[in-house]
Amino acid sequence: MNQPTDITADRATHRTAPAFQADRASAAALDQSDPLAAFRDSYHFPRHTNGEPMIYLVGNSLGLQPKGVGEAIEQELRDWAELGVEGHFEAKHPWYSYHEIFAEPAAALVGAKPGEVVVMNTLTTNLHLMMVSFYRPTSERYKIVVEWGAFPSDKYAVWSQARFHGFDPEQAVVELHPRDGQDLLLTEDIERYLAEHGHEVALVMMGGVNFYTGQAFDMERITAAAHAAGCVVGFDLAHAAGNLDLRLHDWDVDFAVWCGYKYLNSGPGGVSGCFVHERHAFSPDLPRFAGWWGNDPGSRFEMRPDFLPQRGAGGWQLSNAQILPMAAHRVALDLFTQAGMQNLRAKSVTLTAYLEYLIDLIPGDRYTIITPRDPAQRGCQLSIRTTANARDLAHRLRAAGVTVDFRPPDVIRVAPVPMYNTFLDAWRFADILATLF
Ligand SMILES: *Cc1c(COP(=O)(O)O)cnc(C)c1O
Repeated sequence: MNQPTDITADRATHRTAPAFQADRASAAALDQSDPLAAFRDSYHFPRHTNGEPMIYLVGNSLGLQPKGVGEAIEQELRDWAELGVEGHFEAKHPWYSYHEIFAEPAAALVGAKPGEVVVMNTLTTNLHLMMVSFYRPTSERYKIVVEWGAFPSDKYAVWSQARFHGFDPEQAVVELHPRDGQDLLLTEDIERYLAEHGHEVALVMMGGVNFYTGQAFDMERITAAAHAAGCVVGFDLAHAAGNLDLRLHDWDVDFAVWCGYKYLNSGPGGVSGCFVHERHAFSPDLPRFAGWWGNDPGSRFEMRPDFLPQRGAGGWQLSNAQILPMAAHRVALDLFTQAGMQNLRAKSVTLTAYLEYLIDLIPGDRYTIITPRDPAQRGCQLSIRTTANARDLAHRLRAAGVTVDFRPPDVIRVAPVPMYNTFLDAWRFADILATLF
């Protein structure tokens, strides 16, 4: 956790800038020297019709299943069958305190203290719960700033929060646009907006990595600019958790939420994570939607009418732990603990730069990478704009054994994830891409 992100990026730049070669043997050699290569064996891969594993480049959409998940869920099913209600305390992993398993690994993943994170619910639910506490509009300061092109669920969430507080979302929700003709938002433009209009803004609520362009925002600078203007700052890390090396505590972010099923490989609809900075750890005066699991465990069963939140992010819990999806999450996060997020990020910077290098070698102007070129401004995803029919291209790639996804109107997204993708995956994808048009 102590290595600053820029050193990781520097190291990778040194390693990658002069070194890549375009032949297949070089890809195999990069895999040979990858210290994380063995993690690939811990995952199930969907198979192509020819029986080979798919070249799976959509871990940013639904991460692959760790092989240990089946047994972990079966363990809970056995404990439930054999112990019934006693499983709350006598299961192999007692259900009563199951969520506590995640404090350390989830904190390490996002650069937080254990008390600053909790795993619960699903992403959009947690986004709402956070906004209940941290979007506190007044008649002068009521706006919510989001990035243009934010994920639809986030837009629905902020619009409905504005409406819930009696504001017209057309007025209250401000989308920050890239400059004319650009795809990416400049940090200095976000800072300028906040310096000029921040006094009207109650909440800055952005993605950590934009799902469409793959742009990673400078969360530290955005947080500083927002705080300087008196705004609260939250990030949706759906595309950042398990992808970037995050430092939420040090960056002083107020809150953040993320899902478990993208880079974190915890299964469809899996549990979500939530960060609340420790300066809000004990604030019983903050409005919140409460449930018994957020109450101080000491008095939880007294069922008193006066809710007493426990310290930290756990105080936002509503319900008792969702054991089956949490069993998958436990196995999935164990693999992150074993691999180390800094190690994964170091591989990721090289792997994505390698893929970028190969795509750039494809002659002609059929493919243009719209994701930032600077490794510090992206995670592993590359969004590729094509002059071909992008939907059709995604289908043909799939038929050729590569899973990518299509985003209208003209983009395919590819995410070589460091946990289970190889340099040869990148090479084979680029090789196939070069021949399809
Ligand atoms: C994937 C994603 C979601 C999905 O929300 P759920 O509540 O998990 O269905 C929301 N926001 C962003 C930014 C996402 O990338």
